Order: sequence, then structure tokens, then C-alpha cells
Amino acid sequence: MKISGVRTAVVQGNYEWILVRVYTDEGLVGLGECYWGAGVESIVRHLKGLLLGEDPHNVDWLYQKMVRGMSGAGSTGGATVAAISGVELALWDLKGQALGTPIYNLLGGRHRQRIRIYADCGHGAQPTPAAWADKAREMVALGFTAIKFDIDNIAAARFRDPYHVGVGRSGWLQGQQQPLANAELDLMVELVGAVREAIGPGIDLALDCHWNYAARDAIRIAEAMAPFRLLWLEDPTPPDNVEALKRVTDRSPVPICSGENHYTRHGLRQMITAQAVDIVQPDIPKVGGLLEAKKIADLADIYYIPFAAHNVSSPIATMAACHVCAGIRSFVALEFHAHDVDWWQALAVGGESVIKDGYIALPDRPGLGIQLDEEVARAHLKPGAAFFA
Ligand SMILES: [Mg+2]
Repeated sequence: MKISGVRTAVVQGNYEWILVRVYTDEGLVGLGECYWGAGVESIVRHLKGLLLGEDPHNVDWLYQKMVRGMSGAGSTGGATVAAISGVELALWDLKGQALGTPIYNLLGGRHRQRIRIYADCGHGAQPTPAAWADKAREMVALGFTAIKFDIDNIAAARFRDPYHVGVGRSGWLQGQQQPLANAELDLMVELVGAVREAIGPGIDLALDCHWNYAARDAIRIAEAMAPFRLLWLEDPTPPDNVEALKRVTDRSPVPICSGENHYTRHGLRQMITAQAVDIVQPDIPKVGGLLEAKKIADLADIYYIPFAAHNVSSPIATMAACHVCAGIRSFVALEFHAHDVDWWQALAVGGESVIKDGYIALPDRPGLGIQLDEEVARAHLKPGAAFFA
């Protein structure tokens, strides 16, 4: 079997879902998806030249060929790795179909039959204890046993630099490390306290900081959150400095989680070997794909660091992620970030709901085990984007 084509389609969800199909001369077609980003789709089309005529079974060799072939064009991180990841996902789907077995059977087999999903609640409808408690109850009623809120940028009191050019524009000063105001910390305690009271002790609760705090302020937040017994506190400091992150983790009374803005096992190596996190959380269709994620999980496992997975994808990459999460020994949960997209589930045909009662059941069909509903995908195609043409 030889690869005969590589084509893309971009579906406009709450993110751009960049779908990839890899075609073969025997008629089998593999389906994958890349993490969003400027340039990703055109890089996938560029990768086609490295793939045509190759045997799609040799997934790891083809991954290395793409990485080496793009080494002068950013294959240590960013859009290039996201593009390679989407192709890698499609190659696994193809190989599973060719061999008549689910992808998880090709990645070491299963540790579990259903994958636990955690629901991202964003910033809630508004930053009030009642709104956060309502949102949390809504997610728990849907069957989720773990939820996450965005704890950063909840209060105007944060902005102690009133003449900064960013103030009053977006209010989003990501990564600026404005000092944490007491009023902001108090509001965090109020909001998270209301959520914990609403959901009780049995539901897991994570909080995301989106890289917005200085190390000392992150430690203050972690200490203030200790009574609420978090599943984790995510990305407290910017992604560039592992030593600063380790300073937070070493002093935090709650588990610290990070990894979604890092690429490949090389990009995550120092975070893991320095034990700068308690839970590592790469994004699978961004970090390098299924096998790269498995390698990262295995490296983390040597340090007894469990693996969670960031995810903002359509059902296609979400299901692909499930196949590798099934084979990871110390797995925590996979993210669901599209609760507000009411056609998310409809993008996949496979007979049943993708997410049911807070879990995704692994299909026993060959490859990915689900297919794209082309009608739904076309209805939400990004304006001007090709549909696998
Ligand atoms: Mg995050």
C-alpha cells in the first residue's frame, strides 16, 4: 500500500478544527486532525511531498521523516509540529483499518475500556459565586466527575497598572504577571468555595491560570486553594521557564499541572525530569501525535507523574486521543472544551454519542472507530476553506 494523497478541511467550531485525510492507492483513507493555528493547514499540504509513495504502515518512520524534513522550518515546536501531529493521527487510523484492529491495539493495548472526560467550564457565565455554582451543577448533572474553571482574569481589581495601554481594550493581559491583588485572591476563594460547596467532595475540580502569574503569586493562589482539595492548578506561570514552575510546584499544597504549550518529548523532557509538575498535560494533536504522547507518558511514568490530556478538538482528534489514553498506565482525564458547540457530537458518525455520562467508550471497530459526518462538517466549513479538495 502506498500513500497517494493528503487533503484537508477546516471546520469552524469554537476553534478551527483542521481535519486531515491521507489517501492510499488501495482505496483506504485515514482521518486525523491537527490542533488549530495559523499556517497549520498549509504546512499539512506541504508535508504531502514527504509522504507520497510511502508505505503508511511505517508510522514512526514517517513521523521522523516529517520532523527531519521540516527541521529547517520549525519542527521543534509550533504550527509545524501541530501539522505533523494531524498527519500522524490519520496514519494510525489508516493502519488500524488496514490491519482490521482499533488503534489502541497498535499502541500497547488497553489499560481501560472507557476514558474519563473532564468538562471545561471556562470563566462561567460571569464571575459570581452563584453563576459558577450553577455551571458546576450543570456539568455534574451531565455525568462529568471532573470539571475545570478558568481562575485567571476574573477581576478588574487585578489590573494595578491603570494607564497600561492594554487596560480597557481586551482586559486580557496574558502572561504579563501583574501583581496579584488581595481583592482578586479573595474573589477566587469565594468563587471556588461556591463551586466546591455545590458539587461536594466527590467531584474532582481543577483550575486553570493560563500562565498569568509570577511564581510567588502562584504560590499564594495555591495556598489559598488548599482547602478546596483540587485535582490540579494548571499553568500557574508562563511556559518558558521550568525552574520558576518547579519553584511553585515544590511549595504548592495542591497538585500543579502543565504541558499544553510544549511540543514533542524533547520540549517536555526538562519539565518531567526536573519534576516541575505533579501532572503532565500535553495536547495530543499538537504535541506530536499518538505515539509521541505515549512516549511522553512513559517518560513521566518513570517519575510517577500521571498523565492528563489538554483537548480543544472536534470528536475526531478527541477520539484519537482516547486510543492513546487507553494505553497509558497512570491516566487522569481528557479534556472536553466544546460544551457550548451543540453540534460537536453530530460531527462523528459511529452509531452513538461520543461522550456519555462523562466518559468516552472505545469503539471496537478498526482504526479510529468513528467517521466524519460530512454533511455536518460541510455545514460548518470555515468560509473559503477546501473540503478535502
Ligand atoms: Mg489550560
